[in-house]
Amino acid sequence: MRLRHIKNSENLIYESPYVLDDKNFKYDKNNIILELGMGKGSFIIKNAYEYKDYNFIGIEKYPTVIMKAIENVENYKNNLDYDFSNLNFLCIDIDKIKSYFKNETIDKIYINFSDPWPKKRHATRRLVHIDFLNKYYDILKANSIIEFKTDNKDLFDFSLEEIEKSKFILLNKTYDLHNDNELLKNNIMTEYEEKFTSKNIPICKLILKKLD
Ligand code: SAM
Repeated sequence: MRLRHIKNSENLIYESPYVLDDKNFKYDKNNIILELGMGKGSFIIKNAYEYKDYNFIGIEKYPTVIMKAIENVENYKNNLDYDFSNLNFLCIDIDKIKSYFKNETIDKIYINFSDPWPKKRHATRRLVHIDFLNKYYDILKANSIIEFKTDNKDLFDFSLEEIEKSKFILLNKTYDLHNDNELLKNNIMTEYEEKFTSKNIPICKLILKKLD
């Protein structure tokens, strides 16, 4: 997601109580759910409101994008009269995720509309590349789930190939989420999903499980 740079956003984000300190990272809550590449955060904000027994962390590498997520949660907070104490943002590259979360500590991971990196030489940057899947496998608890949604069929097919190489089990998949009654149950839309579905572009979704 490219946004116009907001001056000093690298420092300003840390004035928000929602943003975790990535230099001196401390997080001692349980029942943790991550969204990787959360963008402006509407999906994770809605989840935090819906599932208050869980603690949500939205990960995003651009401070300017995090500024938008902070603005978003402040608006939801005022409109819903809920403090979102179960929601935080972390400004890091997902590549470094294992430096922040210990093995077998995460309850669930969402990856929504991650950048497709269409050039073959950039395949290792795709968040569903086997090198990333292995990192997610380590930090997830046993029996935990990854949910992945994308509009990009090539990226989706690539993810299926990578899953074959991984230790995850593929539980379910669809190439047309919004016409799949079972997978659509309790679906919370992301910003990109709203944009694509309004143009009738089908959404692919898959669910992975880490076994014992
Ligand atoms: N998940 C949101 C949605 O579905 O509306 C945003 C999708 S946007 C295409 C992908 C987001 O992931 C961008 O904001 C981008 O900056 C972030 N992102 C991509 N690669 C990342 C990485 N390696 N580490 C952290 N964030 C990343």
